[in-house]
Amino acid sequence: MKLHTKILLGLVLGLIAGIIVNQILGVSGNSHAGLEFFIANVTDPIGQIFLRLLFMIVVPLVFASLALGVAKLGDLRSVGRIGMRTLGFFIVLTTLAVIIGMALIVGFEPGKNFDAGMQNQLMSIYGDNTSKVIEKSKEIQITLMTFVDMTLPRNILKAFVDMQMLPVIIVALLFGIMMTKFDPIILGSSQRGLTALNEFSIRIVDMAMKIAPYAVPCLVFGIAARFGFAILKPLGLYVALVFSGYLIHTFVVYSILLRTLASVNPWAFFKAVKSVLITAFSTSSSNATLPTTIRVTEENLKISPNIAGFVLPLGATVNMNGTALYEGMTVLFLAEVFGVELTIAQQALVVVMAVLTAIGTAGIPGGSLPLIVLVMQSVGVPPEGIGIILGVDRVLDMGRTTVNVTGDVVTAACIAKLEGQAAKIDT
Ligand code: ASP
Repeated sequence: MKLHTKILLGLVLGLIAGIIVNQILGVSGNSHAGLEFFIANVTDPIGQIFLRLLFMIVVPLVFASLALGVAKLGDLRSVGRIGMRTLGFFIVLTTLAVIIGMALIVGFEPGKNFDAGMQNQLMSIYGDNTSKVIEKSKEIQITLMTFVDMTLPRNILKAFVDMQMLPVIIVALLFGIMMTKFDPIILGSSQRGLTALNEFSIRIVDMAMKIAPYAVPCLVFGIAARFGFAILKPLGLYVALVFSGYLIHTFVVYSILLRTLASVNPWAFFKAVKSVLITAFSTSSSNATLPTTIRVTEENLKISPNIAGFVLPLGATVNMNGTALYEGMTVLFLAEVFGVELTIAQQALVVVMAVLTAIGTAGIPGGSLPLIVLVMQSVGVPPEGIGIILGVDRVLDMGRTTVNVTGDVVTAACIAKLEGQAAKIDT
């Protein structure tokens, strides 16, 4: 059996086992002591081994692949051209995603006449988590200085240690650009050193993927066993619409781009990147998925390391189509629940804010939650309302992370084609 088939099977079995356990024990949330013991001592440790193998190489991998990618592109002009094109793709794709999502909410109005009792019940169950999310959102201020803080580190090592991806990216870009000016002997040894880091990362991904068929079911089991189906019921239409948005963006928007701009068959593409989709779905983290994304893009799509190494780390940090789609939908949904009428100008503000906050979202589970509170506040939707959707957020997060990561690979395929190195898929 192929590895990705095994992982997929594991994912499905983990989900089914979790739901069965949830039904038998009748659990809701993390209230059942026996189940919590099992999760804490059996499934979590196995899942964590997989997650940590992936997480531990993210920073070195981003640094090495970006710096090498930039150095191989050679001159600043090509770096600038590919950089601008890549950012152009990211912004257009993210904006399209928000508009698709918001159109679904406007069309189906899932928040109109939302049961008031259920609304209060959900808000009180998730009250504690809501306060935490709101506290976090208060720490975010948008000034010019925030921008400087977010991008330029005071101390390179601290940025690396704290996994602050934007500063890591900036340092890597600078290193790659400066490398082209190094004396040939130093250039050669720098390239060899970075290549070694890359090789090391690829081998660690290999190890992680070997245990993925056992770790992935463990990760999803915990979520399914704690929440089961019950949580989806009151929010069924909203959840179904968010997933429809993900599917439309993935199978319509990305497919059109793949066919027209990247000249690849969308179906063959999705088959070739299956393990990336499964890793994103089960980890809910673009960062944790990045090592797999880079490897699969280079190996299965035959996209050159200088393009994959440049576009993908950038994408995992700034290109979050699924997140933007989810943010736009959630803000409009909660506005409906609270009876806040949004004018066209306010809806346009939601689009802009969703795009900007998606760019600022960290590629980790729940990374967008504090930021979505900012979007809600900007149009007068009560921030405590976030409590209504917190219970289903993890499931939505699995989906949006998958869309986020797919968008990065689609962009890499389009850029490769524009640079005259179209992706090739072995069928
Ligand atoms: N979990 C998402 C990601 O890593 C970010 C988010 O919370 O929207 O891509």
